[in-house]
Amino acid sequence: APAEDPHLRRGPRGYPLLPGGYGRSTYYTGAPSPYAVRGEGYRVWDDRGRELIDANNNFTSLIHGNAHPDITEAATKALSSGASWGIPNLYEWELADLLLSRLTELDQVRFTNSGTEAVMSAIRIARASTGRERVIVTKGGYHGTSDIALVPGGPTYTRGVPQGVIDDVTPVPLNDAEFLRRSIEAAPDAYAAIILDLLPNRAGLLRISDEFVTTARELATRYGIVLIIDEVISLRLGPHGLSGGYGVSPDLLTTGKTIGGGFAVGAVVGLGSLMSEVDPTRPGSLPHGGTFSGNPVSMAAGAAALRLYSESEVKRLNSLGDAARESVMARVADVGWEVRGRGSLLRAVPAGSEKVDEGTQHRLWWESYNRGLLGSPANLLSLSTPMDQAVVDDIADRLTDAVLAVAADAQD
Ligand code: PMP
Repeated sequence: APAEDPHLRRGPRGYPLLPGGYGRSTYYTGAPSPYAVRGEGYRVWDDRGRELIDANNNFTSLIHGNAHPDITEAATKALSSGASWGIPNLYEWELADLLLSRLTELDQVRFTNSGTEAVMSAIRIARASTGRERVIVTKGGYHGTSDIALVPGGPTYTRGVPQGVIDDVTPVPLNDAEFLRRSIEAAPDAYAAIILDLLPNRAGLLRISDEFVTTARELATRYGIVLIIDEVISLRLGPHGLSGGYGVSPDLLTTGKTIGGGFAVGAVVGLGSLMSEVDPTRPGSLPHGGTFSGNPVSMAAGAAALRLYSESEVKRLNSLGDAARESVMARVADVGWEVRGRGSLLRAVPAGSEKVDEGTQHRLWWESYNRGLLGSPANLLSLSTPMDQAVVDDIADRLTDAVLAVAADAQD
């Protein structure tokens, strides 16, 4: 055991050094969790010496697992020439080029430090270019921690968000294409943007139907609304992102996580006609900065990560995930659970649930952890390229056992 549990460390005035003992609220799993001290490939070790299969992958961002040699080399090489500079660097072009070669219907990229910032910028671009304010989101979704992005989560997420911001957001029930159509047609000139996450984790990892996506695209085009597809998590699911899989092209696409190779990153990728809003050579362009946006280390690591994530690797990971979902599903259906997701992302939830209660989520997290499987606190599991069939089978077995333990517990 560690000499001193940092959760218990207090400052001179009696407070833990981090609020609640946590550096990110999203780490919270109901009880103080051990600390990560090392990672290699698909494994991480905690401060108690326990070895875990890392299916958290820093909330899906480590598509190549921990400390991949090519990524470490690319990042180290960039870092050894200086961590960041106040004039542009060439690595930004490299990553932009790689992204645009995948998102072939979009023209330009702006990098940010996080997905949150990417979504904030995309919304501002949409509002500025349309001269409108209202934004459509899907109920229960998550788009980071900016004011607007928290509104779809409902009242528990919007303390501290001004009412005016809340009033500008229209949450639409997932997959209710008719509701979407009615909302827009009631005031088509009011809407700046529709924001969609095609596989919203916060909303239970339910899939968005083809009909809903197609309707959103059609209405956006007809009424001059900007369609933003938030692929911060889902970009990994296809060579052209998940929107590519739906055959729908957004006007702006926000992403992050995987494209930084494990370093802080976000990006807005979009049509040239919209992205020109942040073109500083144009008078009156929108402010966009970020001291560390497009920094060489994130860009170099991201470029290495994207190069390694070839079309065949995308497909290999997705089929491993598809098989794992089926295998767990077959073993947990009888106890009233199901496995949702798509491709390399999976999540076990009580069957039919819309919003999974936090207590259940945390119980499953600990049951998994105690079986050497590390997921996100909502039990979103993501595969990484160092994993092979044997590792994924192992994940499926551990997850199954953990679900069965939670289900048995619930019956006591
Ligand atoms: N959008 C979606 C769909 C996300 O899942 C997330 C983060 N999980 C974000 C935006 C915010 O990204 P970040 O945590 O990098 O700010």
